[in-house]
Amino acid sequence: MKRQAPALEAALSQLEAAQLRRARITVAHRAASGRSLTLSDGRELIDFSSNDYLGLARHPALAAAMAACAAEAGAGSGASHLITGHGTEHARLEEELADFTHRERALLFSTGYMANLAVCGALAARSERVLLDRLCHASLLDGARLAGARLLRYAHADAGAAARLLEAQPGRTALLATDGVFSMDGDLAPLPELARYARAHDVWLLVDDAHGLGVIGAQGGGVLEHYALGSEAVPILVGTLGKAFGSFGAFVAGSEALIELLIQKARPYLYTTALPAPVAAATRAALAIVRSESWRRERLAMLVRGFRTAAAAVGVALLPSMTPIQPVVLGSAAAALAAQRALATAGFWVVAIRPPTVPAGSARLRVTLSATHSEAQVEALALQLGRACAGLRNA
Ligand SMILES: *Cc1c(COP(=O)(O)O)cnc(C)c1O
Repeated sequence: MKRQAPALEAALSQLEAAQLRRARITVAHRAASGRSLTLSDGRELIDFSSNDYLGLARHPALAAAMAACAAEAGAGSGASHLITGHGTEHARLEEELADFTHRERALLFSTGYMANLAVCGALAARSERVLLDRLCHASLLDGARLAGARLLRYAHADAGAAARLLEAQPGRTALLATDGVFSMDGDLAPLPELARYARAHDVWLLVDDAHGLGVIGAQGGGVLEHYALGSEAVPILVGTLGKAFGSFGAFVAGSEALIELLIQKARPYLYTTALPAPVAAATRAALAIVRSESWRRERLAMLVRGFRTAAAAVGVALLPSMTPIQPVVLGSAAAALAAQRALATAGFWVVAIRPPTVPAGSARLRVTLSATHSEAQVEALALQLGRACAGLRNA
């Protein structure tokens, strides 16, 4: 370790020089209502970077469900799901998620990252082809790599390009996978076309709707509800519970046979400790709110429209996104960091997203809106973004 320290220092200096070194902030306090964060240095900022789209992470019903379950079941689950870690809260949540997504079964995972590793590993044999959108989430890429699959990527949201890859070697292709809502761009995958091509070639289609479930569709059913696609069109649905659901964990929803196979075979399911039961209890409370309080989605959609109008009025160029993910692409990592600093000075926490999270030359501020933002906060942010962008042009 001692011998290697200079190599580690050199790697860190290289990141620093390229403006790609990342730093964490320590959040000392999160306001229960509204969206403010207090940092450990005492600064208070309005949070426009969280994926808590519906404002459930600090909802008292989730905390109460968690506390009640912990009083009964304790904190940790103590073992994997196949040993003794699987309890009634997990079982009920899985049933409720299957019902919510209109599928035969759902299987809980500790994280979305692991859920994607699990599905790729269970369905793609070594050297079979896996087709991914160029901008899909890193966990799908890593899943395909870990499976030893032949990874092929098609141009972003280009169903025609996916079809050409499929037509080349359909028999050798195991899986076509995409984000439903793209996490760094906020746009939607062309699912009706992808579903048609995947079915025509008898290839599994996986949609990871981490940013759509709970948010898109009148019922919060995500991009599948938006496009009116059922489980025949999209047999594998991955959802995460740490974003709109304000909790933690993830699930795969699909047929009885698919879920049973994952339970038997998926290493990220078998060889890890089960999600704590109180987390599952909190998620059940969140799911009930997601299903019953459609005003949160309606309010969020209204804030998205208001933000886009206000940003256009001050000359801020946004990507074509109808979701609460509203990126402002600035190009270089240095420009994105400068804009992040300018906004923090003005009282807003909007994080710069740099390569390799986004392609080189497309560093950006990724603004995310929540149902708990006020209209005044959203308008004030747009105004400050206008100033920050003008500052960069004049720099
Ligand atoms: C956040 C995210 C994941 C990972 O989910 P975690 O539960 O945070 O591990 C997977 N896929 C997409 C598209 C995501 O945005």
